Amino acid sequence: MVDPDCLFCKIVKGEVPAEIVREGERTVAFRDINPQAPTHVLVIPREHHADATAAAATDTGLLDAVVREAHEVATAEDVADIGYRIVFNTGAGAGQTVFHLHAHVLGGRGLSWPPG
Ligand code: IMP
Repeated sequence: MVDPDCLFCKIVKGEVPAEIVREGERTVAFRDINPQAPTHVLVIPREHHADATAAAATDTGLLDAVVREAHEVATAEDVADIGYRIVFNTGAGAGQTVFHLHAHVLGGRGLSWPPG
């Protein structure tokens, strides 16, 4: 499923440029345009799902693929050993601004808790 008006669907199709770091059968990973850490990569499924809960409800295994890919990104970026963060903002109240499921992969600096 693709949403023709969705920014991240357009990145998957190559209609909007992005700094792609990895591509898999089900996922695409690219650098966030406004990085919040030395490593800030977004891992998205090729298929359009509004958020993580929508994907979990309809596509068994897709979130596994996204999380596995997030770990591959962290390993390739050399932040896996020290620790990194995977974030799924879910809903506007949590700061979600793009309604195509994406995992933020953040690392390369100290990450405080709780997040802002
Ligand atoms: P959200 O706030 O969790 O929905 O995250 C959306 C993320 O997408 C934000 O961190 C934005 O900086 C990022 N973003 C928005 N447009 C682009 C783009 O065209 N390329 C890469 N990242 C983008």
